Amino acid sequence: MNIDSIKNGIVLDHIKAGMGMKVYKDLGLETLECSVAIIQNATSGKIGKKDIIKISDDFHVNLDVLGYIDPDITVNIIKEGKIVKKMTLSLPEKIVNIEKCHNPRCITSVEQELDQIFYLSDREKKVYRCIYCESKIKEKG
Ligand code: ZN
Repeated sequence: MNIDSIKNGIVLDHIKAGMGMKVYKDLGLETLECSVAIIQNATSGKIGKKDIIKISDDFHVNLDVLGYIDPDITVNIIKEGKIVKKMTLSLPEKIVNIEKCHNPRCITSVEQELDQIFYLSDREKKVYRCIYCESKIKEKG
């Protein structure tokens, strides 16, 4: 991959094609002041087409958020134009304040200040359940 455009920063690679914007939003990259590039539909031998995000600064990537979106994304740390670290992700055991519980009887619906915590109950099927009421996260779209 061509990383010439970045001297120091982070490259998120192997994002499923079309998911780049979601990753961008979920990681809160719009709040960064450094330059961020989203490359959509780059060709990749491994998965056909993919999206790539380049962040031209040191940024603390929330690996739980990223692993939850897609554990196949790879995180490359770039220093002086070289990849100094490659990180692979896995589904996090626990996610905090990423999803909301939709059970109206759940305590988190009443006590708004509680953290929304879900635990991984089935790694194969990627099922997360609310730690308070055991509700599954609603499937989206
Ligand atoms: Zn709940």
